[in-house]
Amino acid sequence: MTLQITNVSKTYPNGVEALKNVTLTIPNGMYGLLGPNGAGKSTLMRTLATLQQPDTGSIYLDEINVLTQQQEVRQTLGYLPQEFGLYPNAKAEDLLDYFAVLKGITTRAARKEVVEALLKQTNLWEKRRQKLGSFSGGMKQRFGVAVALLGNPKLLIVDEPTAGLDPAERVRFLNLLSALGENSVVILSTHIVEDVSELCTRMAIINKGQILQEAEPLKAVEQL
Ligand code: ADP
Ligand code: ADP
Repeated sequence: MTLQITNVSKTYPNGVEALKNVTLTIPNGMYGLLGPNGAGKSTLMRTLATLQQPDTGSIYLDEINVLTQQQEVRQTLGYLPQEFGLYPNAKAEDLLDYFAVLKGITTRAARKEVVEALLKQTNLWEKRRQKLGSFSGGMKQRFGVAVALLGNPKLLIVDEPTAGLDPAERVRFLNLLSALGENSVVILSTHIVEDVSELCTRMAIINKGQILQEAEPLKAVEQL
């Protein structure tokens, strides 16, 4: 799979130019989008997740037109937004099962299998009967990944997932992402240099809506 973003621009009604002619070619594997607060990362991530439209430009996931074929994209998309609400009184296992229903996994047996596999993969199997309100920040983020991975997405978008995590949780979370394999496009947005240098095979630096540099992580970070 290749995600091709070409000349994407977005100006908000208040005049903020959040994205200026963004062009990126993103292959399979872990791709880092590094930039400070306000750089335009969330705007780009929401656009890729078909939640908002740019003013100009085109985005293709292989031959799928992301901006017009939203149904097709959503079938193959996993998105972990920067801030996501969870139902604090729901148990992890029950809520994941519910999201699996929404994803169209209708048979109980199939859901049982998927939910168990994802809770094990995200190291939450032991916690499956706990309420989400009792989860730590890291556990919530790992649960968010489990939700995002329902339906085996070919495009996984995670927006600043390490922001509120303590160092141990951060390492655990990054290890989880790195184990996702090379068969899908995974885009990680972050303002933390180490997130990309430790994890990503390719990266871009974004600032004030513009791509400053696209490179292999170590080289780009050395030049900062
Ligand atoms: P990042 O995720 O890198 O912090 P954002 O994409 O959230 O960047 O924001 C880029 C710029 O666009 C910022 O100046 C932000 O204040 C502005 N912005 C984001 N969303 C909106 C919005 N809905 N309306 C107006 N301005 C916005
Ligand atoms: P980020 O941490 O990615 O920069 P923000 O805190 O900028 O995210 O944005 C949080 C929410 O507020 C988003 O939905 C964004 O679209 C909206 N937002 C951000 N800046 C503005 C703004 N200047 N005017 C209106 N909405 C905004």
